[in-house]
Amino acid sequence: MSLIVQKYGGTSVGTVERIQAVADKIAGFRARGDDIVVVVSAMSGETNRLIALAAEISETPAAREIDVLVSTGEQVTIALLAMALEERGCPARSYTGAQIRILTDNAHTKARIEHIDVEGIRADLDAGRVVVAAGFQGVDGNGNITTLGRGGSDTTGVALAAALNADECQIYTDVDGVYTTDPRVVDSARRLEKITFEEMLEMASQGSKILQIRAVEFAGKYKVPLRVLSSFEDGPGTLITLEDESNMEQPVVSGIAFNRDEAKLTILGVPDIPGAAYRILGPISDANIEVDVIVQNVAEDGTTSLTFTVHRNEMKKAEQVLEQVAKDLGAQAISVDDHIAKLSLVGVGMRSHAGVASQMFGVLAEHNINIQMITTSEIKITVVVDEKYLELAVRALHTAFGLDQAPESE
Ligand code: ASP
Ligand code: MG
Repeated sequence: MSLIVQKYGGTSVGTVERIQAVADKIAGFRARGDDIVVVVSAMSGETNRLIALAAEISETPAAREIDVLVSTGEQVTIALLAMALEERGCPARSYTGAQIRILTDNAHTKARIEHIDVEGIRADLDAGRVVVAAGFQGVDGNGNITTLGRGGSDTTGVALAAALNADECQIYTDVDGVYTTDPRVVDSARRLEKITFEEMLEMASQGSKILQIRAVEFAGKYKVPLRVLSSFEDGPGTLITLEDESNMEQPVVSGIAFNRDEAKLTILGVPDIPGAAYRILGPISDANIEVDVIVQNVAEDGTTSLTFTVHRNEMKKAEQVLEQVAKDLGAQAISVDDHIAKLSLVGVGMRSHAGVASQMFGVLAEHNINIQMITTSEIKITVVVDEKYLELAVRALHTAFGLDQAPESE
């Protein structure tokens, strides 16, 4: 008998029919004898709807009141799901975050979990009940309702699994797993059976937005095996777990992540003096603009150039900051480009394989795709290219790195 924490996202509980279907599924798991703790999100669209209501009343609503408001979304779904389970003869009880005592700090709308009392949950499980917990919410030391940030139910699921020492945390969603790359771009993308926490973080932060990044970090830290699966069809999904040292057949590249959300800014003719990079990127960070890829050229004739990327929405703001910086520094010019895309090969197998970068650049060269920026980490090689070549690049690399073929075990 295992203890499984299952999290169902907003689309999985988006209508009464879907809540019924989820209840059928859970009743099935119970019948097999597993102990089940369920975490649910609000019905899809509900959190946004509540936030929009607040916006009609105030431009600057207090974060504390936002939390009181948005936490109601999950309170609806836990009650409905518990009722649906009881209807099926499956004993169940719903609990808000405060009732369980998911203790958090007091950072409203982005609280962090500090402690979870599991005695009550264990008592329910021992009594044969399914525990249905509200995702996304907790309570601070003074009894104020808090929430964990958008998409926070994933984190609730993982945190409960860690606190209960569960065998697995299953995240049920509208996709049937994590893919080698976005299947909407590459037809031959395939579902991964397994991926490591580290790889998943790279895939997630790169735009494969299946799981809240914080939840993956949390799962990695507490070594909670995480599984992403579809709530609409049966299947094994993708297991996110620790690196398997014994797996010699580990592919070098596990997946390709990409995004079109960034813009590139360049400052040219920057005097090659100590502190120049700081004087450029300091004001950008002071303006609260997050910088992603950074490349500085080797100086020639006493000047250098520096290129970096920011989120596309912030390009205009960054450009204004950079104009001032260029004046102050006596730089020659600035240029901006929002027709770029970033793509990354991700794989823990890269650690033990040389030549991945050159193979990647070779493939891009063969397709006449110009690389504008390059950056690497231990398990990732990232390039920035013209947005119009992104899909071609992803497809070519997907094939070249053997990601197209079905794995033998399937
Ligand atoms: N309902 C919350 C949101 O929409 C939390 C979640 O779905 O995970 O962000
Ligand atoms: Mg969600």
